Amino acid sequence: MIYLDYSATTPCAPQVLAAMAPYFRDRFGNPSSSHAFGREAKAAVEKARLQLAEFVGCGPGEIVFTSGATESNNLIFLSLLLDVKETRRKIAVSAIEHKSVLLPAKNLGTRGFDLTLLPVTSNGIVDINVARKLITEDTALVSVHTANNEIGTIQPVKELAEIAHRVGAKFHTDAAQALGKMPFDAQQLDCDLASFSSHKIYGPKGIGALYIRGGSRKWPWDYPLYGGGQESGIRPGTYNVPAIVGFGEACDIMSLNCSHFLRKLSSLTQAFEKLLSAQHSPFLIHCQESPRIGGLSSIYLNSPKAELILEHLSGVAISKASACNSSSLEKSHVIQAINSDYSLSDKTIRVSFGLETDDSNVADLFNDLMNSVQVIHK
Ligand code: PMP
Repeated sequence: MIYLDYSATTPCAPQVLAAMAPYFRDRFGNPSSSHAFGREAKAAVEKARLQLAEFVGCGPGEIVFTSGATESNNLIFLSLLLDVKETRRKIAVSAIEHKSVLLPAKNLGTRGFDLTLLPVTSNGIVDINVARKLITEDTALVSVHTANNEIGTIQPVKELAEIAHRVGAKFHTDAAQALGKMPFDAQQLDCDLASFSSHKIYGPKGIGALYIRGGSRKWPWDYPLYGGGQESGIRPGTYNVPAIVGFGEACDIMSLNCSHFLRKLSSLTQAFEKLLSAQHSPFLIHCQESPRIGGLSSIYLNSPKAELILEHLSGVAISKASACNSSSLEKSHVIQAINSDYSLSDKTIRVSFGLETDDSNVADLFNDLMNSVQVIHK
């Protein structure tokens, strides 16, 4: 079975595992302890904070470790909801956000906030002109992801940040799918807040971060969690030191190999999409002409027997639309929002390549798809 679902998660890089190992047993201290064991663990956390900060273009004091992008995203909406001082009552998020943004935003929409869903064009990109009209003086927060997890489209984050700032709103971007798949620089993109997950870049699962421009002093809203005061009180709870160390190491590996890796991802995707386009195959690529992250193709199967064909695929591990939606009967809100002629999400699959993928895997995937079409149509 060939793994082609790197957008869902990645395996830990061997260097990541090696860096983490001592922190499970030999260096097990609690970073909040003032003795030598604690200080050793604290130094490891601060090293990882620096590694991440350097990778995403910010200062180490602007990073708060969380359990992943889901928690980072939820923290933002929950904090805004709980802040009684906040007088602006409008939030705007794109219609194709990951559910860890969309659902907290909808929750606020039922609790006194006015939720605006920013529409996307059929290219899978937020419509800037419409956004300009919808983001107004009473908007508290605009949240648009850097890259989409189902179709891979890259959003005009810098322009949207500028629109938000012009009316005095905060701008957040969920960069879970962008990290390691396109250049990302928080300062250059001018965001106030950004979310990351380590397991998308060959780090461990269950660890991520929230970027806060200017650090915790600039946190705009109330704190939703109470506890031991770790991470300046924004995310209290004992540090997951091995995972934090692994995340830092994964950032270093990505930083060092970034240009090579990005070239590899885009060349694999181009090779695969060229194979699909060259044939009279029933496969169409969503948002093919849009700016997209490398390594991800969202493919619509233009056949009445699509589901049978997809079920017949045997040698490859891929997702339906996205991993989060794979096991649910719900239609993909992303595929629906791009308002494509090929809008049936149950006929859409997502393949995503990574560090271990090679040209032969791409050929095997293509052959598996074509065999499956032939078997079902004969
Ligand atoms: N945002 C996006 C765009 C994602 O793709 C994902 C993971 N699929 C998340 C947020 C959530 O990340 P995690 O499950 O690591 O918290």
